[in-house]
Amino acid sequence: MFSASAPSSAPSPSWDWTHRLTQLGPRFFTRLQPTPLAAPVWAMRNRALLDELGWSSDLLDDAHLSAFAGNSVLPGSDPMATVYSGHQFGQWAGQLGDGRAIWLGEAPSRLGPQEIQLKGAGRTPYSRGGDGRAVLRSSIREYLCSEAMHGLGIATTRALCLVASPEPVRRETLETAALVTRLAPSFLRFGHFEHFAAQGDVDSLRTLADHAIAHHLPECHARAEHLNGNVYAALLQVVQERTAHLLAQWQAVGFCHGVMNTDNMSLLGLTIDYGPFQFMDGFDPGHICNHTDTQGRYAYSRQPNIAYWNLFCLAQALLPLIEDQDLTLQVLEGYKTGFPRELGDAMRAKLGLTGDLATEDQREADWQLVEDLLQLLASERVDYTLFWRRLSHAVASGWGQHKPHAPATDVQDLLIDRHRWQAWLSRYQARLGQADLAQIGQTMLRTNPKFVLRNHLAELAIRQAQTGDYSEIETLHNLLKSPFDEHLGFEAHADLPPDWASQLEISCSS
Ligand code: AMP
Ligand code: MG
Repeated sequence: MFSASAPSSAPSPSWDWTHRLTQLGPRFFTRLQPTPLAAPVWAMRNRALLDELGWSSDLLDDAHLSAFAGNSVLPGSDPMATVYSGHQFGQWAGQLGDGRAIWLGEAPSRLGPQEIQLKGAGRTPYSRGGDGRAVLRSSIREYLCSEAMHGLGIATTRALCLVASPEPVRRETLETAALVTRLAPSFLRFGHFEHFAAQGDVDSLRTLADHAIAHHLPECHARAEHLNGNVYAALLQVVQERTAHLLAQWQAVGFCHGVMNTDNMSLLGLTIDYGPFQFMDGFDPGHICNHTDTQGRYAYSRQPNIAYWNLFCLAQALLPLIEDQDLTLQVLEGYKTGFPRELGDAMRAKLGLTGDLATEDQREADWQLVEDLLQLLASERVDYTLFWRRLSHAVASGWGQHKPHAPATDVQDLLIDRHRWQAWLSRYQARLGQADLAQIGQTMLRTNPKFVLRNHLAELAIRQAQTGDYSEIETLHNLLKSPFDEHLGFEAHADLPPDWASQLEISCSS
């Protein structure tokens, strides 16, 4: 069972905690205490994030290790786990909830109030068969990927610290436990709303929606003016647009989430719940990163449609509040034009085509350029990240005019069908025309990252951490938090994956 006895007190940072979610009433959560974790040690401490938040640096001192291991409570916190439901792999899964994430409360920061969760802090009433723990392997992946996404400018939950423990945890094999402290303005998921809708509890549904609008999405009020004054339709619209934006960014950077169940969809449009995710190596639209996703439901190219499917579930849940089916469908429909526009913008930016106010015809023509390129990359499984980075360098150097080594050749080196490549390149060069290539190239180098968290990089850091050496996680964190910088001396981290990388199997089990 989950632990009911209160662990001893830890010294507290001077936060004025708030608990706006628990104030909504007991239907939304269960109070509980984290389960103590044996012999914890710091694996990672994100001091850069502390600075961003304006939180005192002593928060990550040894005095607080026990609090971030779940062995003591930060005074002022009010630990609890929330209930949610959701659709998993296209099927209604019924009640789920925070099975291993414990909320401590909300603390003010320079970035606004932050909800704080300990992930892997032991069993909760929502753990079902699970042990409430997270293993070191998956916790490292979550820590690094949250910060990598942030470095890329993609909305995400953040990772404050990672605590490791020798405590054994059984997955496919015996592993060890770890705990990530993660932050977000709100951890609300589509599934929180589906839960109360499925119960027919419209009062709770309204309470939750009003909470989300008041504290996290106040722009809904202004939006409602264009939606017959319907603030709940506005809520759906804001979430729909944020989701479209997020998905466009995922697709543009080649990110596969892996488990886009509705309980893993953030109401704020954040990337949340890092499990079997992957940044693609060779470009393959059909790529499935989750070894357990045998049907390929969450394949890379399907993600945008799955997001729409998930939004449809959210819309159904909100319908008792919106009370207008036509308006609900109209808001959902916005995704069908909004997402392609977001994706078009994101891909045009990768090509450096941001300087002009494009007409619809121009956008159409640019999209054709993008599609033809993606087909070429897919047909040869060209390394996605390397391609865009080398293209950016090629443009920045004026196709090799300003540097002794001709980077235009470097891009070409990635391709086999040179004739097809040259044909595309001529069209692209014509499109860029007389523009200032150096300037466009510099913008592209701030758009197309040099470093992404490739599976093999995470794997190497994990293997090292399993021996108690956390230095490679630190190295990766440093590269990934500024992925557009060159970081000279770390070329190997930006290189093609080794052959063994394609054999890595990443599954939901974490
Ligand atoms: P996921 O697919 O990882 O997002 O998890 C789906 C559901 O299973 C959520 O309710 C999680 O809280 C729960 N869950 C996942 N792993 C565990 C675990 N080790 N112990 C308890 N609950 C878990
Ligand atoms: Mg989840």
